[in-house]
Amino acid sequence: MLPEPFLEILSQTIDGQWLDSVIDSFYSPKDISFFTNPFLEAQDRTLAELASLHLSPTPLCFTTNAFSVPWQAREMLTASAAFNQGKIYICTPSSLLPPLLLAPRPGETVLDLAAAPGGKTIRIAQHMENWGHISAVEPIKDRFFRLNANLKKYSVKIARTYLKDGRTVGRLCQGRFDKTLLDAPCSSEARFKAFEPKSWQHWSMRKVKEMARKQAGLLESAVKSTKPDGEILYCTCSFSPEENELIVNRTLHIFGEKLEVMPIELPKNLPNCQKGIIKWQAKELDPRLESAVRILPNKLMDGLFICRLKKIAS
Ligand code: SAM
Repeated sequence: MLPEPFLEILSQTIDGQWLDSVIDSFYSPKDISFFTNPFLEAQDRTLAELASLHLSPTPLCFTTNAFSVPWQAREMLTASAAFNQGKIYICTPSSLLPPLLLAPRPGETVLDLAAAPGGKTIRIAQHMENWGHISAVEPIKDRFFRLNANLKKYSVKIARTYLKDGRTVGRLCQGRFDKTLLDAPCSSEARFKAFEPKSWQHWSMRKVKEMARKQAGLLESAVKSTKPDGEILYCTCSFSPEENELIVNRTLHIFGEKLEVMPIELPKNLPNCQKGIIKWQAKELDPRLESAVRILPNKLMDGLFICRLKKIAS
């Protein structure tokens, strides 16, 4: 049984029409998704290699070069040469949305402020066709080494990595980046599985508050690091407003007129989403937060909060 205070958060934040299906989604394993790696192998060849293992992946409807297979095929996929040689990267489909919505272009300068193990850095490099510059930051040593290993394995040529606390970057690199992704460390509520108690046993409201303190410092740093006219994409895989709308609300308050909340145009075929919330426990939030998006979990996708900000040129 999932923790009661967590279920309470779901019931207070999720539209009634979705609530039962959202709770059900925690009770069954999700299909496995992956994206292919054009830097190493043409997609047709990778798919042919998987077909020879009797895997017939279904394309994801909302982005390119990404597929899913039934969850029972997980072991076959992770044991495949394609996976071990870096021709595919296994990820949750929701994790493909932040790079897609950040929309980095070839030649741009991009900051990935909380980068390990590197799935989104790799995807950003794919959007940039391995041309431009990515700075990828991670403060935890073993995760930093894993990030480096993954960037090498997936042939990302345009990333430099930094073993650093992301909260220091805004001061060190003011106004340097065209685009910044903050895929913030969070209480990972979207990763809970009712059938795996260890997925939620360390969760508590205290943990949510501890994460919120860190996220606030990181988002401030992300905004400072970004060029005027540049964009920041903030996301977490948590449902608690304390880690999502309240963090952005605080940041909007600090930066005032210098920040705008941008509309998010989601790919078609994604019905499982709702607007950001603008009232939490009697606190009225900035109404622009309605432009944030909450992706709701279903059989395929994990929950995700996304907000796009633009730094206004002064
Ligand atoms: N973007 C990654 C990906 O797609 O593979 C996942 C990032 S994960 C949600 C958050 C990361 O932030 C973790 O690797 C965590 O170690 C890192 N982190 C924790 N504290 C941080 C800090 N102060 N500054 C930057 N990153 C931090």
